[in-house]
Amino acid sequence: MSTLKLPVMGFGGPVSSSLHTCWRLYQGSTALELARNAVFILWASKYFARGYRQLWGRGLIGTTSELYDTLARKFFKLFYRIPSIRKKVDLELKKTLQDVEDKMIPKGPDVTYYNKLPADGWSDDAIKAVLIKNNEMKHSDWESGKVSGAIYHGGRDMIQLQTEAYGMYSTGNQLHPDVFPGLRKMEAEVVSMVLDLFNGPEGSVGTTTSGGTESLLMACLAAKMKAYNERGVTEPEIIAPVTIHAGFDKAAYYFNMKLRHVPIDPVTYQVDTHAVKRLVNGNTVLIAGSAPNFPHGIIDNIEELSNIAVKYDIPLHVDACLGSFVVPFLEQLGIDPGTKFDFRVPGVTSISCDTHKYGFAPKGSSVIMYRSASLRKYQYFLATEWSGGIYASPTLAGSRPGALMAGCWASLMKMGKNGYLESCRDLTAAVARIRSAIDSGEIPALHVLGNPVASVVAFSSSQVNIYDISDAMTDLGWHLSALQNPAALHIACTRLTLNAIDTFIADMKSVVTGLLHTKELQELEGIKTKVNAGETSALYGVAGSISTKAIVDELAIGFLDNLYK
Ligand SMILES: *Cc1c(COP(=O)(O)O)cnc(C)c1O
Repeated sequence: MSTLKLPVMGFGGPVSSSLHTCWRLYQGSTALELARNAVFILWASKYFARGYRQLWGRGLIGTTSELYDTLARKFFKLFYRIPSIRKKVDLELKKTLQDVEDKMIPKGPDVTYYNKLPADGWSDDAIKAVLIKNNEMKHSDWESGKVSGAIYHGGRDMIQLQTEAYGMYSTGNQLHPDVFPGLRKMEAEVVSMVLDLFNGPEGSVGTTTSGGTESLLMACLAAKMKAYNERGVTEPEIIAPVTIHAGFDKAAYYFNMKLRHVPIDPVTYQVDTHAVKRLVNGNTVLIAGSAPNFPHGIIDNIEELSNIAVKYDIPLHVDACLGSFVVPFLEQLGIDPGTKFDFRVPGVTSISCDTHKYGFAPKGSSVIMYRSASLRKYQYFLATEWSGGIYASPTLAGSRPGALMAGCWASLMKMGKNGYLESCRDLTAAVARIRSAIDSGEIPALHVLGNPVASVVAFSSSQVNIYDISDAMTDLGWHLSALQNPAALHIACTRLTLNAIDTFIADMKSVVTGLLHTKELQELEGIKTKVNAGETSALYGVAGSISTKAIVDELAIGFLDNLYK
């Protein structure tokens, strides 16, 4: 259409000789102008509002540094595209990824890969032989208790019971409650039992999920859909500390939400609640804190977060995935977590608790709880017009493994409240023992981060490179978690580590003493640079620098690709 080609501003375009056409064009242009201006104003105000919220939430310095970060990343991404540099980087990447692959994927004449179905089925004995062989391909010797977290073992007889439960329900599927009424009953009971532990009030509800991440995804989705349906929010934001579990980043990625990370207090390692308050705006759909968080094992100041949540009427999620069956028992043991964190806190609207962590259920189970059904309904998925029939599903999965639910129910019933109380007593005692070894200088040159009261303790050092400690501990068979921003390590105590605490302290002591000694010698001889950085030290040395973040992404992708080679 010719009218579309008129200039936006003013009436100075090509004017037809005919007055009539002119008039029509004029009218057209005005309408168009108006429309365009309106669109422009809408567009501009949207960006203005975003800019304003950003400035208000982060301040000038915060905004500038975020901008710098983004630009620097973009710059380095471009930089690595320069062919000569790309070549060098690719070579290094290939080498590193090959190393990872060699470690992860065993090769050799004695390893057979079965990449195609056998023509005829195997005998049970042949299958069992391979099952046993594959089970012996253990990399970390977790049974000795030298692995941080990861294996939440409930004991041999617990595993026996779970296996029996699993066998009985291996065809079970909660998608069909009419076919498996017993599973439906057990699932509802598991949710109730966990709600009871977290002081769920009258009307509180929940669902089971496949794990902590799915519970977090559900909490974020429910908050997003609530805000969309009740307030028309289309650019949803979550406010959570930098220490919140990466599952929140995943939720933001999957559900197109913005995760606004909040710094933590440098002394307490709890979320900075002033920063949280400043970030609250009309797009905020959820505030979150941990009880405790994965990196440092610190419980955020949930009661303070609750005050903010109540004041602005925003849902508040407490991530107790890790705290699971430990934190509900602290009070009874006279251990002060510094804050309440369950449904007794008025602003708390949802809590996630992993039955597959300190609940000792088989891997693949967690519970997401809500204060009321009016929030839970927003995580539901309905397809009522589907030609396959009316379809309704409470969580991400369609079919759900009933066997896992049976195993979970059996585990909870076997432990009972007193079983978990004892487990909490042992775990917190182990953490206290490690803390005192560090605080007293029995293990030299370290400090504990914050005031961890549950099952995880994080530590760092201002005298030796903390990642060197990790690498030296790896040589002694340990598998500790490396943390970053700030650089630190943690150990998550489990039932298995309980028996290895004394070894841990002795090994740490000798490792740190050794590193201090080496450092002293190097200083005497004037050696500045380290000769051989270990694996962790090298990786986090790379990850720590902004110029190499793009490369770390590629390493991570390569790592994931390896999983399916
Ligand atoms: C383990 C954990 C989760 C969930 O992790 P999954 O691996 O999905 O079970 C969430 N939050 C915290 C703090 C955790 O430690």
